[in-house]
Amino acid sequence: MKIGFPRALFYYDYFPFWAGFFHSLDIKVVTSPPTHRQIMEQGLKKVSDDTCLPLKILAGHIQALDKVDAIFLPRMVSVEADTYNCPKFLGIPESLFTAVPAGIPVLTVTLNWRKGRRQILKDLQVFGLQLGKGKADIQKAFTLGQEWQKQYQDSSGAGWDFEETIREIEKVTKGLTKPQMSTLTPSIPKVQDTTDRLRIALVGHSYLTHEAYGSQNLLGRLRKKAEVDLVQHVKQEEVDTNLLGLRKKLFWNHAKQIFGAGNKFVRDPKIDGVIYLSCFGCGTDSMVQELLARYAREQHKPYMMITLDEHSGEAGLVTRLEAFIDMVERRKVHEGYVSAYGECLDRDSNAL
Ligand code: SF4
Repeated sequence: MKIGFPRALFYYDYFPFWAGFFHSLDIKVVTSPPTHRQIMEQGLKKVSDDTCLPLKILAGHIQALDKVDAIFLPRMVSVEADTYNCPKFLGIPESLFTAVPAGIPVLTVTLNWRKGRRQILKDLQVFGLQLGKGKADIQKAFTLGQEWQKQYQDSSGAGWDFEETIREIEKVTKGLTKPQMSTLTPSIPKVQDTTDRLRIALVGHSYLTHEAYGSQNLLGRLRKKAEVDLVQHVKQEEVDTNLLGLRKKLFWNHAKQIFGAGNKFVRDPKIDGVIYLSCFGCGTDSMVQELLARYAREQHKPYMMITLDEHSGEAGLVTRLEAFIDMVERRKVHEGYVSAYGECLDRDSNAL
């Protein structure tokens, strides 16, 4: 059996779990190709205009999986106690049925950590019946999935490169390498503290920052000009520590990760500037980015927000990026942290 797994949205954070799960069940997982123009255009035709960009891209990837026995669209309600994923995750698969190629069945299962491990296992066992697998098989698959996911999450901040790690996991699922996650080695070293280059933090959802086509290759462009720190480079303990000052706990899982990592970057003197990458129609970003912008202002940290949708032009993005880098560079190399007009014209502004 060949199961199609779209390379979008939940792929970027939870693929290791599902890859391990299906690998244990001896089910082949086929991923859609990296996003290209046609995938984007197909996605736009299948969802409403006011949907966020990552969901539109997901709709395109689902259509690209037209040669598989079934398409897997999990409903990831919650991945840790006391938080939820964004409501758009909860609406999957129903909100995307129109994108599924005719004649291909959809496989789905609900994953809700708020209900506890036992309930998850029960739900997976019911799902396993559709795959013709027994309870013992599912128990084993669940354990392997968790192992792979843990290994992947522990790699955050440990010098592993996010994309490279995901690629290695894909190789394992395709049978190209031995099924031992522990054999993976760091491929790209962590940002060196001693570097002379600018250090810019790019914060935002993994499925946007690593979505090369949808983000107009912002990450790649940025890497040519500076060392780039990402949310995935921050260890979970540091994320948690940087959430402590909030009066109220953040409700959404992704918002917690982004804000925790972003707050660390804003306070880190080694980081020269912070770019928040968001997309139109994202409810969680509308709050988190505002909060982070205020923290950046307090710390006088250069901060820029980029909001994308499918109409965003390359020229505008490049111009903004270059202007931001130029200003940060000038501030760091030539002008120090004192404005030519005095120490700070406006105490509440993070203007350069
Ligand atoms: S968190 Fe934002 S970008 Fe992600 S699915 Fe929800 S609305 Fe879309």
